[in-house]
Amino acid sequence: MTDSVDVVVIGGGHAGCEAAATAARMGARTLLLTHRRDTIGEMSCNPAIGGIGKGHLVREIDALDGLMGRAADRAGIHFKLLNRSKGPAVRGPRAQADRALYRRAIQDMLAAQDRLEIREASVEDIEIGSDGSLAAVMCGDGVRVRCGSVVLTTGTFLRGMVHIGARGTPAGRMGEAPSVGLALALARLELPLGRLKTGTPPRLDRRSIDWEGLEADWGDTVPEPFSTMTSRIDNPQVACRITATTPATHAVIRANLHLSAVHGGQIAGRGTRYCPSIEDKVVRFAERDRHQIFLEPEGLDDDTVYPNGISTSLPEVVQVEMLATIPGLERARMLRPGYAVEYDYVDPRALSASLEVRRLPGLFLAGQINGTTGYEEAAAQGVLAGINAACRCGGRPALRLDRADAYIGVLADDLVTHGVTEPYRMFTSRAEYRLTLRADNADLRLTDMGIAMGCVGPDRAMAFTRFRNEVGAATRRAGMESLPVAALHDAGIAARADGQRRSLADLLAQPAIQQDFLCAAFPWLREVSSRAFEMLRVNALYANYLPRQAAEIRGFRREENVLLGAKFDYATVGGLSTEVRSTLTKAEPASLGAAARLEGVTPAALAALNAHVRRAQATSVSRETA
Ligand code: FAD
Repeated sequence: MTDSVDVVVIGGGHAGCEAAATAARMGARTLLLTHRRDTIGEMSCNPAIGGIGKGHLVREIDALDGLMGRAADRAGIHFKLLNRSKGPAVRGPRAQADRALYRRAIQDMLAAQDRLEIREASVEDIEIGSDGSLAAVMCGDGVRVRCGSVVLTTGTFLRGMVHIGARGTPAGRMGEAPSVGLALALARLELPLGRLKTGTPPRLDRRSIDWEGLEADWGDTVPEPFSTMTSRIDNPQVACRITATTPATHAVIRANLHLSAVHGGQIAGRGTRYCPSIEDKVVRFAERDRHQIFLEPEGLDDDTVYPNGISTSLPEVVQVEMLATIPGLERARMLRPGYAVEYDYVDPRALSASLEVRRLPGLFLAGQINGTTGYEEAAAQGVLAGINAACRCGGRPALRLDRADAYIGVLADDLVTHGVTEPYRMFTSRAEYRLTLRADNADLRLTDMGIAMGCVGPDRAMAFTRFRNEVGAATRRAGMESLPVAALHDAGIAARADGQRRSLADLLAQPAIQQDFLCAAFPWLREVSSRAFEMLRVNALYANYLPRQAAEIRGFRREENVLLGAKFDYATVGGLSTEVRSTLTKAEPASLGAAARLEGVTPAALAALNAHVRRAQATSVSRETA
């Protein structure tokens, strides 16, 4: 049986759901093929969305009308803005989510999406046409689906192997079969494959934990939604509790290190330094005698507790022994042991910044398969790949987000330029233009672009336009208004009586002056929405720095706009060493800027490249005008 659609998305995880919904929003007839319908939107590991850097990605996904922010708002049971005491640029919205509610929210949104069909199937092969571009996918049940493009989002499933102690079981996640046929197909297509690993902690029964005396960790009093389309959070909010490992825990771990899958040598794949297992922490930070553990409820009607901080691949009996040494968990019942999973990933240097495999037009990769870790990183790639898969079918140019547009651009550029040496996760420190790429202004940076691409629906487009106009008008007015000191005193604002007027822009930049006082001095501010007011404040706070950053971005874009691309012949450029020439030929950087970020490409080589391109441009202009 042969079917035909525009875009096929393989995998219903965080990347796949966003890719499928995005391609369908763009007007492409889209088919999502995934192993199991009931695991669509599954959170394989921690029941939380967002965090530092990751929260920025969620806001950007939302700005492009993606699902993750809205789903997290529907499922969130503990919202917290991280880094609240630091500058607005590095604050990270985070929410713990009720797992079942999150899955339901994603599944409901996908079900309501026009032009999107979902089928349970295991994709076993990818067919390439005689012209070298993508032709069809083959499912395990014999169905062949012809399509214009494919987004591959297989997560940890490609030749996945779950490890608990010495026991290794082929699985993509605990209890779910791995994807082997497809991994072999990718190898046959000569995609560069490697091995990575990640891990998860045991799950505990809430009723068996001794909560007495454990410190409570509440979320924010007023939960702040991820999505600009969410007006309020309706779920009841719950507390987490905090406990910690003890010297006895560390002794148990040290005595059994040789039995851990990670430390016993059963796993070859590299794990993430940023999310280490408890075995890693005890070895790497040998001087510490405690590591904090957050006991996070997995849902409102669920007795499962996720002990955040003790991911492990020790044998089950050792996990039980280890738990017994942790305050509050002495009698904790383990519902499921912790485990590590090792899987194939594709070296993302095989992709262009649109997440398309350079050698196989029409094949896009997104999520953990590209060497990342985390739901947000996966979903962000899913949106980008979904947009570009739809563009490829419609014969439209690809969307490339650069490092000054979005964290999504930073993520894509890091992956395709540098590849990964361990599972990649997002941090604010990865971005050069942090003051510009804030979580609070994601829609102002991206929604217009999304509207132009066709991936933003009418409701969001209308709400966004209203907000943008409001911020624009309020910013212009704030830039023109000032008051004499006496008027400020009347409004309760302290200021030195020096006869100088104070501009509203300056007053907004002073966090110590509360909103009520500013509204008393400038009553029109009462009519400004709270979000637009916050935007005025943040822009005022960074007023001296943003123009400088804008100038830096202009410089950055000058290099990004010197285009090189796949067809560029480096053999014709004089003054390049053999080594640099080979690096450039292999990496096929899209631009001079991308070339500059490649390891080993020297300033001299860049100057030679730049001069060569300018000369070539001058020659072609003089030919055209001759
Ligand atoms: P997934 O969410 O894994 O989804 C893949 C989907 O593809 C699944 O629905 C699967 O059924 C489907 N699929 C695969 N092959 C096929 C096929 N051939 N045909 C049809 N469907 C197919 N992230 C962190 O940030 N921190 C952590 O500590 C962490 N620990 C983790 C521990 C474990 C054990 C696991 C499994 C994951 C962990 N993660 C962690 C990672 C996080 O779960 C992933 O980053 C995220 O889910 C990746 O999303 P994805 O869409 O790429 O893939």
